[in-house]
Formats: sequence, C-alpha cells, structure tokens
Amino acid sequence: MSGSGPSGGWSPDGQQSGSSAPEMPPSSPRMPPTPSGDSVSDPVPFRRPMPPVEHDEPEEVLAPDRSELDPATESLVEQFERARQEETARTMIDRAGVPVDVLAPVQDAPVIGPTGRPMPVLPEPEPLTKHGPARVVSMTNQKGGVGKTTTTINLGASLAEYGRKVLLVDFDPQGSLSVGLGLNPHEMELTIYNLLMQRDVSIEDVVVPTNVEGMDLLPSNIDLSAAEVQLVHEVAREQTLQRVLAPAIAKYDVILIDCQPSLGLLTVNALTASDGAIVPLECEYFALRGVALLKTTIDKVRERLNPKLEIDGVLGTMFDGRTLHGREVMERLVQAWGDRVFHTVIRRTVKFSDSTVAGEPITSYASTSAGADAYRQLAKEVLARWPRPLHDA
Ligand code: ADP
Ligand code: MG
Repeated sequence: MSGSGPSGGWSPDGQQSGSSAPEMPPSSPRMPPTPSGDSVSDPVPFRRPMPPVEHDEPEEVLAPDRSELDPATESLVEQFERARQEETARTMIDRAGVPVDVLAPVQDAPVIGPTGRPMPVLPEPEPLTKHGPARVVSMTNQKGGVGKTTTTINLGASLAEYGRKVLLVDFDPQGSLSVGLGLNPHEMELTIYNLLMQRDVSIEDVVVPTNVEGMDLLPSNIDLSAAEVQLVHEVAREQTLQRVLAPAIAKYDVILIDCQPSLGLLTVNALTASDGAIVPLECEYFALRGVALLKTTIDKVRERLNPKLEIDGVLGTMFDGRTLHGREVMERLVQAWGDRVFHTVIRRTVKFSDSTVAGEPITSYASTSAGADAYRQLAKEVLARWPRPLHDA
C-alpha cells in the first residue's frame, strides 16, 4: 500500500504543511482542506473511511423539535429531511473532494477461470418436454488413464441429473465403464460384442439400466477384443456401431461412447457413429504428445466416413492449479486448441478412484464434492455448446 496513493499533510489553505509531512514528494497531487478545516497530518491511505464523529450530547438534543410546527410545515420539513437523507446516502464526498456515488453498481471485473480465460456464465439447462434425437459423442484419446471412462460416467450422470435421457456405451474391451457402474464382467449375459456381431440380437436385449435414474448402459467385457479382429472382414466395417445404435437415437438425448485407448477399428467405428468427440487430456506435459495424431484421425474420419463429426471440446483432467507445471500445461493447451478447450477443468482428487471402487458416479458417491460439481458444470457447458434438438429450438 505504501507509496501507492496520494497521502500526506495539508494545511487549511491547501498548502502542504511541510513540518507535519516532510516525507511528501513535491509532485504529489494536492487535496482540498478537510471540512473541519483542521490540518490532517497522518499519512492516511487515499480512500480510508472517515472515523465516525463522536457527539457528547445525548441524541434527543440533536433531534429537531417539531412539536410546535403546523401540519403543513411539518410535512414540508419531513420531505426536505427525507430528500437530504437520500442524497447523503447516495453521495459521499471523499477526501479528495470527489463525489462518490456509493449506490452506483460496481462494475464486476471478469472472473478468470482455471484455463486462464474469462469464465463465462453458463446457463442452467432447461428441462426437456420430449426426448431425442440423441447427440452421439465419443470420449476419445489413444492414451490410457487420461479420464475417458471417468468423464463418460460422470458427465453422463450429470446430464441425467439435468433431465437428459442418457445411454452410455462401453466400447473398451477392458470394460472399465461397466465395472465402474457396478457390473461384474463375468456375469454379463449379452454385451455390445453380441450386438455388433449377431444380427439377431437387438439393442433392447443388451441395454441395462444403471443406478442413476435416466441413464442406461450398453456393457462390454473382454469379448469385445475379438470384435476388432472379426470386424475387419465385415462389409462397411467402420459403420457397424453406427448401424446398431441407430434405433436408440430417437429414445435418448445423449449417447456417450467410452473409447478404448487406441486409434484402431473400434475407435474409428465410434467416431463414425458420432456427431462430436470430447478429448480428455491429463494436465501433464507428456499428455500433449500424440494429440496431433488424434486430430489427424478425427480429420480423416470426417473426410472419408462422417462429414458431420466435430470436436466438441478438449477437457483438461487431473488438473492441479497449485503447481506451475499444471498451469503451464493448461496455457499450452489453450494456445494449441483455443476455444475448443472447455472452460471447465477437472481437478485431481482421489474421490474419483474411490467412487470407481464403489461402482458409482461421483455425483452420487460424493454428491457435494468439488469433483461432482465440476462434472455438473461440464454438463452445463456441453449443453450450451451442443446444437439444440429441433423440437426444443
Ligand atoms: P481412461 O478411461 O482414459 O483410461 P480413467 O477414467 O479410467 O482413464 O482414469 C484413470 C484413473 O485415474 C482411474 O483410476 C481414475 O479413477 C483416475 N482418475 C480419473 N480422473 C481423475 C481425477 N480428476 N483425479 C484423480 N484421479 C482421476
Ligand atoms: Mg477407460
């Protein structure tokens, strides 16, 4: 604070009182005399509030005696006093003699979000009156352990909380999404493998409800790894997932596909079936490597198989804003991907692993945690980004 604003001693005639404030630089702006005309010798900060005036008299002595006024004069006096009080409340004269409008709205400075950009106000999602057609979105990154499965579960659960009908597709032979929602991989009767490879199996046969209201799952287990090999010999092998998901589009609002960590045929199937891709990226330096290859793959699928495919956004996960490293990675992410980077970032917290062990989304396992709130915010952000379905526009 020291040296940041004009301060010093002033005599009633507006001249600096050299004896009381010898440290004042001669170039400091001058202040008018204080209302009392006293010299103020302490070097107070520019806008420090005036101390309250202390009266020796009891209060009733200060109150005007109106007992002998006729009603008309009394009403005039009252009007005058009210106007004076309002004026006093509205405008104070600060020590520099500048009127300060205390009731004027304060101009809010934009809040800078964790990505280093001003944080927009995200609208509350409006309730839907009808469901479908679904937006199909792939959660994709050929790197493992970046938060694809965690994002699929928790974004799905948050969208369901906002009244969206959600279908999650476990498209990873490791089956982490199914396990993360409490399913036992050895006890599944039918999985997405059967749906892809057997023409007599329909999507209703395979879909299972989850513990989250409004959210269903197409489960998977290790069987799916065989599909990657078998699909190679199929006609229109890249469009197989798109074909089997088609009957679900009308029933759901969002279909989220949790991809395996590779850019093989299963991931190409997922991207071919999708309107958008969300790319979760761990906020670590090496996470940025390989993203160019992912972008090339998405571009190729768009050119050759699915012209409507968009990159819905890049999501920073496992972010630690306390470290310089975390902030630097985020800065580079924004440099490389610009506005595609979601304003929402997911911070690193052990609650995610805990909720996976519990077989639940974090939004129900630790409903009030910061992690749950981050995914709810992401749900708001994606809903604001996605084009609205025709019936709701
Ligand atoms: P992927 O599906 O990309 O392989 P996961 O979603 O399975 O990645 O996450 C890998 C591991 O990291 C899991 O154990 C998960 O619980 C944990 N994890 C995910 N997101 C976070 C986070 N924001 N903070 C801490 N741990 C996380
Ligand atoms: Mg996964």
